[in-house]
Amino acid sequence: GPNPRIAVVTGGNKGIGFEVCRQLASHGVAVVLTARDEPRGAEAVEKLRALGLAQVIFHQLDVTDTSSIATLFVFLKTRFGKLDILVNNAAIGGLLVHAGLNKLICRCAQQFAGMDFDQMLEWMVKNVREPVDSAKKGVQTNYYGTKHVTEAVLPLLQSSSEGRIVNVSSLFGLLRLISNEEVRQELNDIDNLTEERLDELLDRFLRDFEADALEARGWPMGCSAYKVAKAAMNAYSRLLSRRHPALRVNCVHPGYVKTGITMNSGVLTPEEGARNVVKVALAPEGGPTGKFFAEDEEASF
Ligand code: NDP
Repeated sequence: GPNPRIAVVTGGNKGIGFEVCRQLASHGVAVVLTARDEPRGAEAVEKLRALGLAQVIFHQLDVTDTSSIATLFVFLKTRFGKLDILVNNAAIGGLLVHAGLNKLICRCAQQFAGMDFDQMLEWMVKNVREPVDSAKKGVQTNYYGTKHVTEAVLPLLQSSSEGRIVNVSSLFGLLRLISNEEVRQELNDIDNLTEERLDELLDRFLRDFEADALEARGWPMGCSAYKVAKAAMNAYSRLLSRRHPALRVNCVHPGYVKTGITMNSGVLTPEEGARNVVKVALAPEGGPTGKFFAEDEEASF
C-alpha cells in the first residue's frame, strides 16, 4: 500500500537477521536493514533488491556505538517520523569471539577423543571458559546494545498505531539455567525490576566472572555471558511491555539454526528460524505482549 509499515532489523546482513529482512519485505513491510559493517550491509540490501524487494534500504548501525544509534534515530525520524517494528536481532556468541581458536581445539579433540563436531561443540559450550573481555563484550552487545537501540527508537514506536518490539532471544536465556535462586527471583520479579537493578545484577555477574566465582555463585556455566545477557534482555523486555501497554514487546527463541553463531551446527535453516521471529513481528493487532516464544509456541521465561 501507499503507507507501508516500517521495520528496523539489527544485524540484518546475514543469518537470521537477513532472512527476517527478506520475509518482512516479502510481506510488504518497508525494511531498514541495518548492519555494523557498511559494505556487508549494502551487499545484503543489493541481494534483496535483486529479488525484487525494492522497499529494503540500508542504514549503518553498530548496537554498541551510541553515536551510530543516534544517527539511525535521526534518519528514521526525518525519513519516516515513526517506526512500526523493531527486531533486536544482533548478538555475538560466547564461543565464537574466538572461533579460530575454537576450531583448532575442535580439530585436535576430534583427533584425540574421536568426538564428532556436534559432540565437540556441546563439550565446548559446557567447558570452554571465555576470556573476561569477551564476556564483557557479550553483555555490552547482547544486553546493553539491545537496550540502547530500544530506548533510542521508543518515541518513534509510540508514533505507530501499534509499535512492536521483537527481541531475538534464546533458550540459553531461560531462568532455569540460573541456579542462583536470588538472581533467578530478581529477574522474574517484574513488579520490582528496574533498569538499575539489571545493571547492578550484570555488574555482579562480571565481578564474579573476573573472580572466577561463576560456579560458586550459581551463574550458568558455558557461554555464561551470552546466557546472562539474554536472561537480562528477557527481563527488560517484560519490564518494557508493562511500562508501555500500547506496544507489543515479545521475545522469540528462533530455534537451533545453522548460522555463524552456531558454527553452522543447527538443525533449522535461517529461513525457518526467521519465520518464528516474523510470525511474532506480524501478529494481528491486539496480540500478546510480554511473552516468550520458543520457536512457534508460547513458553515460560
Ligand atoms: P549470526 O552470527 O549469523 O548473526 C549475528 C548478526 O549480529 C550479524 O549480522 C552480526 O554482524 C550482528 N552483530 C554482532 N554484533 C553487532 C553489533 N555490535 N552491532 C550490530 N550488529 C552486530 O547469528 P544468528 O543469525 O544465528 O543470530 C541472530 C540472533 O539469533 C542472535 O540474537 C542470536 O543470539 C539468536 N539465536 C540464534 C540461535 C541459533 O541457533 N542460530 C539460537 C538462539 C538464538 P557481523 O556480520 O558484522 O558480525
